[in-house]
Amino acid sequence: MVKNQCLAPWTARVLTLFPEMFPGPLAYSLAGKGLKDGIWALETVDIRDFARDKHRTVDDAPFGGGPGMVLRPDVVSAAIDSLAEKTGGQCDGPVIYLSPRGSLLTQDRVKALAAEKEVVLLCGRFEGVDERVLVEHKVEEISLGDYVLSGGEPAAIALIDACVRLQPGILGSAETLEEESFERGLLEYPHYTRPKVWQDRAAPEVLLSGNHKEIRDWRLKQAEAATKERRDDLWQAYLRKTRLDKRD
Ligand code: SAH
Repeated sequence: MVKNQCLAPWTARVLTLFPEMFPGPLAYSLAGKGLKDGIWALETVDIRDFARDKHRTVDDAPFGGGPGMVLRPDVVSAAIDSLAEKTGGQCDGPVIYLSPRGSLLTQDRVKALAAEKEVVLLCGRFEGVDERVLVEHKVEEISLGDYVLSGGEPAAIALIDACVRLQPGILGSAETLEEESFERGLLEYPHYTRPKVWQDRAAPEVLLSGNHKEIRDWRLKQAEAATKERRDDLWQAYLRKTRLDKRD
C-alpha cells in the first residue's frame, strides 16, 4: 500500500486526441468506485484544442520520408503547457509518454508513480510524437510491452488502473497486495475455490488442511515453480536476490 501524504487525490492528467475514451474501463469496478469516491481523479485534455489552423491540424508528414504522420511538437507542447497553467506553475508529477520505445513498465515503477501526487500521460497516435517535444519537456517514455498498439490510450488506461489499485481505500486488504505477482519477485501461486472437485479435478488437499504454515510453504513452492518455468528473467533475478539475502 502506498502512503499518500497529501489530501488531494492521486490524479491522472491525460493528453489525448480521444478524450471520450476516458474513463472508459476505469469507470467500472474498483477503479470506478474509487473515482466516484474521490480516491483518485482524472482529467483529460484534448490535444486538438491546441491546433492553430482552421482545420485543427495536429500532425504532419515525417521529415526524411516514410509512412504515417507525426504529432507536431508545437501542438503537443502547447497542450502540456496548458496543464501547468491550470495549476499555476509546474506539473506536480512526471510527464510520461506511452511509447513502445520506452522502458518497460514494472510493478516497482507503478508503485513509484502511485506515490506521486499526479502523473501526466501523453498518448500518441499515428507514428508517434516529434522527438523535440519529448526532450523539451523532459518526458519519460514508458512502454507497456514489446508490441505495438495503435494508440497510447489503452496503455494509459492500463497504467492508471495499476496505480489506482495501490491507492489506500481501493482494495479491501493490504495482504491482497503483499502476496501478489511480482511483489516478492515471483509470479503468484495458483488459486482454487469451490467446488472442491470439479470435472474430476480435486483442489489441492493442502489448501483444505487449515495448516497455515503448510499452505504458505506450498504456495511459495508453486510460485517458485511457475516463475522458473515461465519467466527465466524473473527467476534468475530472484535466485541472485535470495543468494545475496542469505549472505547478509
Ligand atoms: N511508430 C511507432 C509506433 C506508433 S504506435 C514505433 O514503431 O515505435 C502509436 C502510438 O501508440 C504511440 O505513439 C504510443 O503512444 C502508443 N503505443 C504503441 N505501442 C505502445 C506500447 N507498447 N506501449 C505504450 N504505448 C504504445
